[in-house]
Amino acid sequence: MYIDNRNRKWFKGNLHTHTNRSDGRLSPEESVALYREHGYDFMALTDHWKLSGNAVHENGMLLLSGCEYDFGQNVRDGIFHIVAVGCGTEPALTRQNTPKEAIDEIHRCGGVANLAHPCWSMNTLDQLMPLADDVDFTEIFNSVSDLPRNCRPYSGDIVDKLAARGVYWGIAATDDTHWYGDTDTCRSFIWVNAEECTREAILDAIRAKNYYASQGPRMEVTFDGKKLRVTCLPEDHITSVMYYTDWVWENHRGDVGTDLTGSEYEFTPKDSVARVEITDAEGRRAWSQVYHI
Ligand SMILES: [Zn+2]
Ligand SMILES: [Zn+2]
Repeated sequence: MYIDNRNRKWFKGNLHTHTNRSDGRLSPEESVALYREHGYDFMALTDHWKLSGNAVHENGMLLLSGCEYDFGQNVRDGIFHIVAVGCGTEPALTRQNTPKEAIDEIHRCGGVANLAHPCWSMNTLDQLMPLADDVDFTEIFNSVSDLPRNCRPYSGDIVDKLAARGVYWGIAATDDTHWYGDTDTCRSFIWVNAEECTREAILDAIRAKNYYASQGPRMEVTFDGKKLRVTCLPEDHITSVMYYTDWVWENHRGDVGTDLTGSEYEFTPKDSVARVEITDAEGRRAWSQVYHI
């Protein structure tokens, strides 16, 4: 958790984690201990087709219930991995359900639904548009989909194409931890702005998109309907602040430098959406939500 200069609390969490209850390497107990040691305030254990419970661990970690449901057998027809977070009761689902039915059921059970790793799944716009009004958030970065065992960790391209069509899902980053190696552990997470670290407060903040995705860098993004303003911290050693919009001819795409502390982007009459990515000197990134007029 950190407290920003406006005295707001930001809690750190990973909402996509596997354990040896499915195909993860560590036990739930070992996983929770590891993430707690690395300063996480909350997490969800999301084993495949095995729901975990809501709880507060004795080490202080808030555990949100979780489960990853997968639908579809091939890229052509669509592969959909839907991660349920925070359900109060168990969703009644089988592989015969559709992704839309799964999300409706997750909502009925009081949880939020993550359309996981769309780039890894090679999801197309045609496959995702029918879920436009249903998904709560998606993963702009999924650590386990990165090297050394995988590729396609970054889903910014599909996020931007959805946004250009008026679909503004929440933007999260997760580890999708399986191997507990260097690149899929305690790497990609969300900072959630809430008064307290409870299930209700974290879920409310996620529904309100009161959070951003990060691998370390912190930022404050404000939007007044015309300008996006980004504030960064000198100790985070930010080297670039880049703006992603749907007006592809724009020449001011961002700022590059050393120890950047601020930047702004004014929407052109042609822009309808914009979001921000910042990068630090170590190559770690943070990603804002999508802002739109
Ligand atoms: Zn998955
Ligand atoms: Zn997973």
